[in-house]
Amino acid sequence: MADKITVAGVSVDTRHWVGGQRVASVDTFTDTSPIDGSALGEIARGGPAEAQAAVAAARAAFPSWAATPRAERARLLHAIADGVEKRIEELAIVETTDNGALLRSHRRGVMPRVAHNFRFFADWLLTLEHEDFETRGHSNHVSWDPAGPCVLITPWNAPLMLATWKVAPALAAGNTVILKPAEWSPLTASLLADIAAEAGLPAGVLNVVQGYGAEIGDALTSHPDVRRISFTGSVPTAKRIAASAAANLTPLSLELGGKSPLLVFADANLELAVDLAVEQYDNAGQVCLAGTRLLVEDSVAEEFTRRFVAKAGALRQGDPRDEATDIGPNIHPRQLEKIDGFVQRAIAEGARTVIGGHRRDGQFYAPTLLTDVAQDSEVVQEEVFGPVLTLQTFADEEEGVRLANDTRFGLAATLATGDPERAERVTAQLVAGTVWVNCFFVRDLQAPFGGSRLSGVGREGGTWSFDFYCDLKNTVTAPKGFKDHG
Ligand code: NAD
Repeated sequence: MADKITVAGVSVDTRHWVGGQRVASVDTFTDTSPIDGSALGEIARGGPAEAQAAVAAARAAFPSWAATPRAERARLLHAIADGVEKRIEELAIVETTDNGALLRSHRRGVMPRVAHNFRFFADWLLTLEHEDFETRGHSNHVSWDPAGPCVLITPWNAPLMLATWKVAPALAAGNTVILKPAEWSPLTASLLADIAAEAGLPAGVLNVVQGYGAEIGDALTSHPDVRRISFTGSVPTAKRIAASAAANLTPLSLELGGKSPLLVFADANLELAVDLAVEQYDNAGQVCLAGTRLLVEDSVAEEFTRRFVAKAGALRQGDPRDEATDIGPNIHPRQLEKIDGFVQRAIAEGARTVIGGHRRDGQFYAPTLLTDVAQDSEVVQEEVFGPVLTLQTFADEEEGVRLANDTRFGLAATLATGDPERAERVTAQLVAGTVWVNCFFVRDLQAPFGGSRLSGVGREGGTWSFDFYCDLKNTVTAPKGFKDHG
């Protein structure tokens, strides 16, 4: 196995990063590009031994990092952000080559956001305080104490963005980290390790291990020295991780899948509603928050569909490195098979294909809209994670809300309506971690983020991230000379 590979002109180390050292494994796995299916290189494939080593390194580095003053931790996080900003072009092209998402959005949106993740949590750390309060003359002081080594496990659909949204608050809180990126897109995590080292982060504070899910994951999530597990990924994996973490009652944060509704009311600005609907094809539909269930009020459904078809038909699908491309490839041949399986089963059950419904050459799936789908059908109830939307109609607000809430998920919901009172009424009834009214994907890092029902456990973001990554402590101090223990 070569220690380094060159991807789109950028040198990427293929080994783990443990205790400030690059570490190889006997086994490897092949990382491929969704753009053309080509092999990018062999990546170190960790197992229990690498997991043990990474937790040991994180544990050894913890006392000193936890004792590092907040201002110094914040300074180092800003230095990492500087390093990310210097390497935006490299990170963007490597990420696009590895996971197939658009280069233009990596360049202009995602990678700047990665830097912002570090800056935001560095700054938020410095504001973190709870006003002291009194109990019968005793003072109460609340502190956010670092918890210990944290295992952070991330998916492939937005690799570095989702990884750093966990790494930044975990490090800011004074914890050490073991990051396990997804095996279908491991490369930018390795570049992050380089950037953190160059920024001066002490050895062992951030560790990166690569490998297949359970093969390395079980040893990480069941380890007694691990104090927090934050996971973003699918529901079946989350259940397995929760079972593994149960051995030590390790606190978990789970950010999982969705089957979110996009409700279009007759009083909506229809042009805006159509734009919002077409946006759900972003990242080839591989977005957890996507509003994949279009729920449209009867009286505007025909006009909405006509405009949607025209707009979606203008989307350009192709090479994600091309600035003009709107939709890139799907991540992996297995994901394509999964997507097509959902669509073909839906069609066999009587769904009508408004657009798409088939693969295209290479690793592409045609943007698809299915209608005539039953509420209890698989395609309405289960996450497809591809460019596949369903369209159902509703007669009135009550029916719209009922359909919107009628899945096992509760990650997000989007509504298009011109009536602010309706927006308030409907929002109050929706089961969703995030509701967008006449907009989509506006995300502030200080907002609580997470899902209800099978979409997740807990919330991260702003102070909620620190609440999760810290051991909260309340210190009660008696006034001088006070003897009463009552
Ligand atoms: P996945 O569950 O297959 O894998 C996610 C990660 O878990 C990978 O790194 C994988 O290697 C690892 N893993 C697998 N088995 C493991 C085990 N037993 N122990 C420890 N780690 C293990 O998910 P995926 O296919 O990579 O990602 C897609 C899913 O992620 C979708 O369901 C999507 O909705 C969800 N997602 C959710 C959010 C959110 O914020 N709620 C964001 C993005 C993606």
